[in-house]
Amino acid sequence: MAHRLAQPRLRELRTITVAALLAALAWTLVIGASLAWNYWHEEEEHRSLARLETRLGLPHQQIVGQIENDRSLLGGLGATHGAIWLAGVGMIGFIRSRARRQIVTRRDDLRRRRVSEQVFDQTAEGIVITDLERRIISVNRAFSEITGYAAEEALGRHPEDLLRSGRHDPEIYRQIEASLAGQGSWRGEMWHRRKSGEIYPEWLAISLVRDAAGCPEHYIGIFSDISQQKRDAERIRFLAYYDALTGLPNRTLLADRAAKAIAVAQRNGARVAVLFMDLDGFKHVNDSLGHLLGDALLQLVGQRLGQQTRRADTLSRFGGDEFVLLLTESEGPESIAAAARRCLDALSTPFELDGHDIDITTSIGISVFPDDGQTLEALVKNADTAMYQAKESGRNQFRFFETAMNARATARATLGNDLRRALERSELFLHYQPQAEITSGEIVGVEALVRWQHPQLGTIPPADFIPVAEEIGLIGRLGEWVLNEACRQAVAWQRAGLPHIPVAVNLSALQLRSPDFLDSVRRALQSAGLDAHWLELELTESVLMHQVDSVMQTLHGLSDLGIRIAIDDFGTGYSSLAYLRRLAIDKLKIDRSFIRDLSVDPEDALIVATIIRMAHSLRLRVIAEGVEASEQLATLRAQGCDEIQGYHLSRPLPADALAEFIRERFAA
Ligand SMILES: [Mg+2]
Repeated sequence: MAHRLAQPRLRELRTITVAALLAALAWTLVIGASLAWNYWHEEEEHRSLARLETRLGLPHQQIVGQIENDRSLLGGLGATHGAIWLAGVGMIGFIRSRARRQIVTRRDDLRRRRVSEQVFDQTAEGIVITDLERRIISVNRAFSEITGYAAEEALGRHPEDLLRSGRHDPEIYRQIEASLAGQGSWRGEMWHRRKSGEIYPEWLAISLVRDAAGCPEHYIGIFSDISQQKRDAERIRFLAYYDALTGLPNRTLLADRAAKAIAVAQRNGARVAVLFMDLDGFKHVNDSLGHLLGDALLQLVGQRLGQQTRRADTLSRFGGDEFVLLLTESEGPESIAAAARRCLDALSTPFELDGHDIDITTSIGISVFPDDGQTLEALVKNADTAMYQAKESGRNQFRFFETAMNARATARATLGNDLRRALERSELFLHYQPQAEITSGEIVGVEALVRWQHPQLGTIPPADFIPVAEEIGLIGRLGEWVLNEACRQAVAWQRAGLPHIPVAVNLSALQLRSPDFLDSVRRALQSAGLDAHWLELELTESVLMHQVDSVMQTLHGLSDLGIRIAIDDFGTGYSSLAYLRRLAIDKLKIDRSFIRDLSVDPEDALIVATIIRMAHSLRLRVIAEGVEASEQLATLRAQGCDEIQGYHLSRPLPADALAEFIRERFAA
């Protein structure tokens, strides 16, 4: 406020200074004149008195002393006058310098005010100043930008009338009043309404401003629009707890809800069920239609399953094509089974995607708290085991977890450990099943089949231990052993004078994908001394569906070596014959499942006939697996199949027995 008072006071000061100077000058003149007059007058008086004394013959000392006295009195008066002068000048100097200081202070004040006005207007925070009756007296530019109200529209209004969103309880306004009355300030989050009607969140700080004397003068409110921060926080919260693709709860949120459900169930003795779902054949959809459609399908599946979910339950995307449904307050197995059936039914109608009708089903494994586990982790693990059981039983169905399954899983782990030792202890051996040309009956090859003689469990079929070997990363070593052994045996037969026939070895997908694979085949041929022409490799269709480029490269590498390639279990996968044309394939092995009912099921007969015709058109040889009866053989012969393999010819035999079998055949 100093700047406002400075102007009149300065003028007043100047008048006082001039008046004081004039007064001092007048005073000096009067005193000087009176002193001079006094001095001159007294001098005259003394002189006339001296003349009188001389005339009367009196001594002069008294008069002279008097004159001296008067002189010193006058001197004293002069000094006092001088001192007053000095004091006056000093006083003027003091007043002047004080006025100077006030001017500097005022200039600084103005400068500060200009800066603060700029800040007031430039700042990103909205600022509103009201008087004590809460009428707006000033707003800044950000206020107008945030609220949409121009300064003219806001001035004189009450902020709450202007911006009230209607979202707050009256209680919050009472709290604000109380806080302003008590501490002179309040801060917190508020929802306000823009001129456009849009409601937005803001961070608001209100404070009471007092004047220099400490009396309340006005209120100042500073606020910032925090809509974006809210949205960001919401998005972060969403991503932390929800799956970005399907919008369903993710594992984290599932774990959270499961922990709560289990805690509640523990208190009131209820059950909590975990339904673990894995889509059947989803990989095929992804591979054949592409990941974009695959993702879109997952979204639709999530939606349909979500529609079956009660509010108290949680459907979560567990990862990939896996969904987990958490059922809280489950009454019993019947209601859990009903929920599982609803999930299966939800997917029974085909999904329409980009012009394709896609059939997708799911296999469901179910575990229940408290019987099958105490934690979500244990429940999911057991539900997963049950889900595999559902897949093995033919997919599109559900299975409850049974302890027996658990025992099997444990047995599988033990089997893995045993398998590691089996390689070192030579518990593995090969049997050979002959293959014959269909018209002549001539033996044209053998397939090497690995067997495991377990010291306690007896003979274990490959279907039981090959998946274990793949799981524990032993398939590379196991495959290499089989390859080496088969090559060694083939050379041994040749040296024993048997007619030369190719030996077929089964390959696992993992083996083929190993970068070292071609070299390991070369090494096996070399160390056995076998011509590549007598080695045939069998691989399944599924191997061809993944990492197509690198597989194709490997196949051509094998073909260049002179090795023959056969497609095993043909008809069970998804590969088309046209696709096979691009690969260096020599032979198709029709899966035994088509041969089993060949002579009774016309549909199977038609499939087999079609495969044979198309294979021939691609110049591929065809061999039927699992031929057990002469009727099957007759049908295959009629259809023009090239070769057969199966019990009708011979079961797999040990190396010696096979040599004997071939000798007899060729002798016959
Ligand atoms: Mg095979």
